[in-house]
Amino acid sequence: MDTAVASPYRAYKPQAFTRSERDHVTVLFGGLHWRAERVLQGALENLGYRARMLPTATKEDLLAGREVADIGQCCPTSFTTGNVVNFLRGEAKRIGPEEVAKKYVYVTAGSCGSCRFGQYHQSYELALRNIGMESFRMFLLAQDGMDQGPSAGGGLELDVPFTMGAIWAILATDVVQDLEYQIRPYEVVPGATERVAGECVELLYEAFRDRPVRSRKWGAAAWHIVTPYFLRTLAEVHRRFGAIEVDRLRVKPVVKITGEFYLQTVEGEPNYDIHRWLESEGAEVYPAAVTVWLDYLLRFAAQQAEDRIGVARNARVKRLALRAAQGLLRWSYDRMRRALGDLPHEIPDQYELRSLAAPYFHSRLDGGEGDMLIGKALWAYHHKKAHMTCELSPYACMPNTMSIGAMAGVIGKHPDLLYAPLEIKGDAEVHALSRCQMILTEAKRRAQREFDDALGVNGLTVESARALLERHPEMKQATYRVPRRGAAGTAANLVLHLAERSRQ
Ligand code: SF4
Repeated sequence: MDTAVASPYRAYKPQAFTRSERDHVTVLFGGLHWRAERVLQGALENLGYRARMLPTATKEDLLAGREVADIGQCCPTSFTTGNVVNFLRGEAKRIGPEEVAKKYVYVTAGSCGSCRFGQYHQSYELALRNIGMESFRMFLLAQDGMDQGPSAGGGLELDVPFTMGAIWAILATDVVQDLEYQIRPYEVVPGATERVAGECVELLYEAFRDRPVRSRKWGAAAWHIVTPYFLRTLAEVHRRFGAIEVDRLRVKPVVKITGEFYLQTVEGEPNYDIHRWLESEGAEVYPAAVTVWLDYLLRFAAQQAEDRIGVARNARVKRLALRAAQGLLRWSYDRMRRALGDLPHEIPDQYELRSLAAPYFHSRLDGGEGDMLIGKALWAYHHKKAHMTCELSPYACMPNTMSIGAMAGVIGKHPDLLYAPLEIKGDAEVHALSRCQMILTEAKRRAQREFDDALGVNGLTVESARALLERHPEMKQATYRVPRRGAAGTAANLVLHLAERSRQ
């Protein structure tokens, strides 16, 4: 006879994290790429928090996540749950579980959305229970506030400086990441871009850590919007990248990264280190900006307000306010792009993405990236932003599975759109990368054809194009802006530009 006694479910209720603990309790966070995390750390330290980034998740974390949390979860949940668990286990071995519970709190994002992002919290709770660390404090940062009450005990305050610091850190690191990825494939001295990017992220970290925000309320929002403070740091970033020498006559296919939020953002084992792998295979990577996701959240909220016009009071005003917030986000992003010489890519218009995706995916279906994956693939194709799109789709992710299904319809209509949907589950690397390689081979052919056409149409050869380039040493500077002349590839656009300049 089974003598096990079932214990009733108890909702996880972390002990309060009080304001007086801020100076000796460390706030753990993670889930983005290293640049954004480091600068966010600066923004948090500016507000008096002790903050620490978790290490990038590994395959061991994936296995730990599968072991201690629900088995049916999607692969990003397994990675991030295991990541926290392994960190806590390591620290518990070093200083003991009681000390860990006193010394750290964990802050993570979540939502009430329709995908498993709305259940991350439960996965973490289950994992904490399974490793015997229920007393560890974890707080969920939802889109509409702190899940465990408005202030989780007063220690964490989701106030204006906190929110603006986080958003501005994301905008700034998005533009820097974009620039870095445009330069690295063409650098003449290997490792130069890596070194400068590291220095620049440190500059931004210091700028955010030392930002002179005094107001805790709307004055802080106004200050972030109008201040040239961050632009000055970005001007220095621009200067440092400008010292890198590049050879943009190297022919490379441009690969746009899209997919599920975590997998497209993180750089490392959770996505088979796809960014670096693509570069090692000869591609120029067009990374996924987190700002596009913020813009999408605003667009989705504006749509919901729009649907309630005539039913709910203030729906029209709410929609207008959300559209204004979208405009402000884009304006602020463009200011930072300008500080980097307008080199980083612009963010796509959400309403264009919506209308591109509309024949294939309903704009009101939420969860994951909704209709955005379809919209982004078509946007990159129609505007010649990339030769191919690589979509990172997590194992056991319902929204991404729907997108991939809808993409079958898109490919049916546009058979020349190069699209590589990769199922990511942490342990099928060879399969995913070889699938990507097949499409990449065709993308390389297209980039070469486009380059040859650019030479041919202008009566040039590679040698004569190089001779023209030698006459314009400024074009070998990483921050020289090669105008887009109708090609997707950097080398082809440079040839078209050189030919144009030679005729002047
Ligand atoms: S979008 Fe997919 S992978 Fe991401 S949290 Fe939701 S279900 Fe999981």
